[in-house]
Amino acid sequence: MSHSLVTMSYIVAAILFILSLSGLSNQETARKGNYYGMLGMAIAIIATTLSGSVTAFGILIVALIIGGAIGARAALKVEMTQMPELVAIMHSLVGMAAVLVGYANFMDHDITITGVEKTIHELEIYIGVLIGAVTFSGSVIAFGKLSEKISGKPLLLPGRHWFNLGLLVASIVLGAVFLQQVESGGDAIIPLAIMTAIALVFGVHMVMAIGGADMPVVISMLNSYSGWAAAATGFMLSNDLLIVTGALVGSSGAILSYIMCRAMNRHFLSVIAGGFGTASGGEAAAIEGDVQPIDAEETAQLLKAAKNIMIIPGYGMAVAQAQHTVYEITKFLRDKGKKVRFGIHPVAGRMPGHMNVLLAEAKVPYDIVFEMDEINDDFVNVDVSIVIGANDIVNPSALNDPNSPIAGMPVLECWKSETCIVLKRSMASGYAGVGNPLFVLENTRMLFGDANTTMQAVLKALQG
Ligand code: NDP
Repeated sequence: MSHSLVTMSYIVAAILFILSLSGLSNQETARKGNYYGMLGMAIAIIATTLSGSVTAFGILIVALIIGGAIGARAALKVEMTQMPELVAIMHSLVGMAAVLVGYANFMDHDITITGVEKTIHELEIYIGVLIGAVTFSGSVIAFGKLSEKISGKPLLLPGRHWFNLGLLVASIVLGAVFLQQVESGGDAIIPLAIMTAIALVFGVHMVMAIGGADMPVVISMLNSYSGWAAAATGFMLSNDLLIVTGALVGSSGAILSYIMCRAMNRHFLSVIAGGFGTASGGEAAAIEGDVQPIDAEETAQLLKAAKNIMIIPGYGMAVAQAQHTVYEITKFLRDKGKKVRFGIHPVAGRMPGHMNVLLAEAKVPYDIVFEMDEINDDFVNVDVSIVIGANDIVNPSALNDPNSPIAGMPVLECWKSETCIVLKRSMASGYAGVGNPLFVLENTRMLFGDANTTMQAVLKALQG
């Protein structure tokens, strides 16, 4: 393939990636966005393979078959509830790729550049390995936290900020030593290896220090890091498309982190410093009061009497896979002339847009799905709010208990509706590990059980 044809293909792929991102920003165009992304990636792979930079076709084909088979199997096997973990582990692979490409480049003695260009190339390797190692170990810990293999509680080492600062300073000093050694022909691998170990420790420490409720910011931040790691790999390999793609992922991840911080009323730096809202202050208030259980039949009666209904889905709806039954109920109630809307919290579930994906899967019309900001003031007009497997996102203590780990986070104020029905299996706390006073409020009724089973019972009672 001629050089200009490769460049043309890269430009087309880059445009398709941009179209993909803009498509993904809206539910109606998300599917098209995915197709653009797939097409762009196919063009990118074919153009790179035929660009002349690949000589070992045999190895490449074997790698493509193995990698493709693992990816296809993971995508086919993964449950919807495991999606956030899969995304986290994918980020870790991007980080690992950057580290491996960095080391391979460092050891490649065929590279003939000299002078300033060589120094820049070595610096690219150093920075690429640094970002890659932080992304890799941070994403592995995020995977552990999301799959609940590692506790969601923040690990708050004494003097942790000094520790982080020490790691940062050490990385900068080691960078200078690395460049010096490269220039003098010394043993540059030693500073590179020590820095890699430091970056790995930093990634682990950074994510371990983050409390459960702040994880959405970390997920989007690691997403951003994985983009920068890919861009760094692009610099090392002198591949323009990889630089552009990495920068697109890196900057869109950064914007997502900002949106998540705003949604949670957090400062980005406080989240990254870790343990936000848990380091100072007293104990969170204990939850006292009587729980008022309700059954499916009584729930159906309340819904029949209501005119204005708000449904608030949370992580439990994903676990129970209740979205289809929820939509059946929605259709039934709308056919009876009732106003039914969905209220979506930006951090509901375990990944950005989690609830929107589930509702789109169940074919819920987009015009009855609202963001928190759009409907939060309207709860006073709502007759019945149904909270389906949500907990932290409807916790009033975020607003009125300054010692709560989720203090300051805006929540869906469902308790302002006339009656609030909460579906969950027990009195267990949510991801942030905090008690929820909503469950004992006077106008709250608890409908215990698996959300799908109870929703099916409610549907039957409504139809009966
Ligand atoms: P929560 O984790 O706060 O609560 C979910 C609730 O669902 C649990 O209390 C659980 O109670 C209930 N549940 C679980 N399984 C079922 C089931 N089969 N049937 C019925 N109920 C069930 O989820 P929210 O969506 O309210 O809040 C999201 C939390 O996750 C926030 O703290 C957020 O910060 C965090 N997070 C969000 C991410 C994102 O990007 N969106 C990423 C990482 C973390 P019980 O066991 O009693 O049934």
